[in-house]
Amino acid sequence: MISVKDLHKSFGQHEILKGITTHVENNEVVVVIGPSGSGKSTFLRCLNGLETPTSGDIEVAGMMLTDPKTNIHKLRQHVGMVFQQFNLFKHLTILENITIGPRKVKKVAPEEADRVAHELLAKVGLRGKEANYPDELSGGQQQRVAIARALAMGPDVMLFDEPTSALDPEMVGEVLQVMNGLAREGMTMVVVTHEMGFAREVGHRVIFMDHGQILEEGAPQELFSNPQMDRTKNFLAKIL
Ligand code: ADP
Ligand code: MG
Repeated sequence: MISVKDLHKSFGQHEILKGITTHVENNEVVVVIGPSGSGKSTFLRCLNGLETPTSGDIEVAGMMLTDPKTNIHKLRQHVGMVFQQFNLFKHLTILENITIGPRKVKKVAPEEADRVAHELLAKVGLRGKEANYPDELSGGQQQRVAIARALAMGPDVMLFDEPTSALDPEMVGEVLQVMNGLAREGMTMVVVTHEMGFAREVGHRVIFMDHGQILEEGAPQELFSNPQMDRTKNFLAKIL
């Protein structure tokens, strides 16, 4: 589903990603962990074309992202992204937040877009919130809307960048539960998170990033119980 070869990304003189090579299989859930500033968000943003790599190749859902001929807007329809800050449109209702992408970008008929949105709201446990505005919802509810909004585009893969980090603790579980359900349905997911319970339970593979590189990767149990590198050990000691 995703193939990344020797990905480099610099901002000015500052090299943030220093040669990332990895792949994500269909139906796989990959959890990315690592210290703040290690390049996790930049990596994720490269995967859906929000950042342009300095060099290297990225293939996503059969499309060569790093080929200038690739239509980035088309590619983004296949790659859903959920951010730490939910980024909902405040002046639109919950229903409109979910249907605007399919209607404007995919030219889906309004009735069909509404039908799918109702289904997705039920799926994320928010039936009945269609007419509400984002401000009327809790953080956990808003993040579940953000997930529904991403799903409405029918993505092949979902990217999550610390989706629960901005939430009050009591709302973390409801968002992780929705993500867990998605994973069980076979959604291909790349998740940056510090929720090690989620990584253990749901992740097929954990990638540890540090200073713009993948330092270590492996099955969650393996990596958590038997980290090979000192920097991985130090990081895990702080968060486990
Ligand atoms: P993480 O998500 O692991 O905390 P980021 O990918 O957000 O790391 O950031 C890695 C580094 O890249 C940080 O030092 C950050 O300041 C820098 N960085 C990220 N985005 C930009 C940008 N648009 N311009 C300049 N520097 C950036
Ligand atoms: Mg980040």
